[in-house]
Amino acid sequence: MLFHMTKKHFDIIVIGAGPGGYPAAIRAAQIGKSVALVEAGELGGTCLNVGCIPSKTLIAGAEIWQSVLNCSKFGISVENPTFDYAKMVERKDNVVKKVRSGLEGLIKANKITLVRGFATFLSPKKLKIDGDETQEITGDKIIIATGSSPKEIPAFPFDGKRILNSTDILAMTKLPKSLVIIGGGVIGCEFASLFNALGVEVTVLEMMPRLIPMEAEAVSSALEKAYRKQGIKVEVGKMVKKAEAGENGVKIELEEGKVYEAELCLVAVGRSMNTDKIGLDKAGVKDDGKGNIPTNEKMETNVEGIYAIGDIASKWWLAHVASHQGLVAASNACGKPARMHYDAVPSVIFTHPEIATCGLSLEEAIDQGYDATVGAFPFQALGKSQASLKTEGFAQIVTDKKTHQILGAQIVGTEASTLIAEMAVAIGNELTVECITETIHAHPTVAEVWMEAALVAFETPLHLPPKR
Ligand SMILES: Cc1cc2nc3c(=O)[nH]c(=O)nc-3n(C[C@H](O)[C@H](O)[C@H](O)COP(=O)(O)OP(=O)(O)OC[C@H]3O[C@@H](n4cnc5c(N)ncnc54)[C@H](O)[C@@H]3O)c2cc1C
Repeated sequence: MLFHMTKKHFDIIVIGAGPGGYPAAIRAAQIGKSVALVEAGELGGTCLNVGCIPSKTLIAGAEIWQSVLNCSKFGISVENPTFDYAKMVERKDNVVKKVRSGLEGLIKANKITLVRGFATFLSPKKLKIDGDETQEITGDKIIIATGSSPKEIPAFPFDGKRILNSTDILAMTKLPKSLVIIGGGVIGCEFASLFNALGVEVTVLEMMPRLIPMEAEAVSSALEKAYRKQGIKVEVGKMVKKAEAGENGVKIELEEGKVYEAELCLVAVGRSMNTDKIGLDKAGVKDDGKGNIPTNEKMETNVEGIYAIGDIASKWWLAHVASHQGLVAASNACGKPARMHYDAVPSVIFTHPEIATCGLSLEEAIDQGYDATVGAFPFQALGKSQASLKTEGFAQIVTDKKTHQILGAQIVGTEASTLIAEMAVAIGNELTVECITETIHAHPTVAEVWMEAALVAFETPLHLPPKR
């Protein structure tokens, strides 16, 4: 515990110190409320400890390794390059520790009472905390931000040795020779790119007809094409029947009978909500039967004074959505009205190539009744991409033909994760495609891809031949 806890009643209690919970606690403290932040594990939640930050730290290392392997294309030679995976993992752990200690400082500086232990509701305003000691605390308003955990399927049970979840695989210090990933969604594909870049033989098995099935078709097919080129085996439309761990590896059997063998198997088939053991019934809070807590746009649950945010309250399992919801919930809990909106949520997949999307795909826009069109531009045609040899992929803007409003954007390729911010601003502020063409983009930069895609939308491309 950072502070010795003598106080037992708080204006606001936040359960869970992940990217949803800790911003909520900070916002409430800024408004001048007394705040308790209850955490059963480590500060920073899934994102900081076993999600976004550790995975992106390893991915950063894998990118450097790929640059070293490809440096001869730039006239640079490196004799017998090697890497030490255990050291990459050590660096990852140090990055997590450093960010966590910064977060501890923030909690302290905002005079938030950090309560270590597992919270369960005793009533709508009272919690039992099981930590080093068992204690009860009460709050006028309670924000639930308990997050999610890797989903386990009985047919492929995690054993921490051969059949792993995302948390296990991030802790692994030695690379396997081969890896089968069950699940070609965001988490599965990010790990596929990471381990393929480090020389592991990777196979991805996906039940749906395409990888990252929630994304636009053009995006899925660009990723599949890139994976084939990189030597990642992809099997889509394949239902896995079971995975069995043996002494030296894992056997993964498909419903159709085909068997895959690998040294390790990663199961990435979704997340389970951490709401089953927190006594929601004692508070009267309803879930949807699967552990998700429905909320309104103020992030209020069905019980007055109780809010839910983050993975448990969203179809978006994204840290920045959790944080935004946290700020909205805290403002409302402190009497300052705020509303959550989801029209312009940027979503990034840190694969190689990177993928980022915001707003509607062309398919979604047409389904919603728009007379929509798409303007796409390949990185290949940009000077900066040629200079840095990052020519794979494209960016596209979906617009309403009638009003020219930008409805959505998708990008596959270099710096997608950063580039999508421009489109989040455009979509969030209902800008038209002219706002992009009339904005001067610096040259030579990859950000020019948006200006070019916007010009294509008007059929006036600058750096592509005109359509005849
Ligand atoms: C491998 C991986 C990579 C990811 N990469 C990204 C990414 O690049 N970008 C992105 O936006 N998202 C990413 N995510 C998703 C992101 O991590 C989650 O969306 C985000 O962490 C959700 O935040 P949260 O606050 O809802 O919950 P969590 O981060 O899960 O935090 C919940 C916290 O509540 C605590 N808790 C639970 N129950 C109790 C209780 N009863 N009492 C006290 N404490 C409790 C937990 O210990 C935990 O610390 C990734 C996830 C994974 C698994």
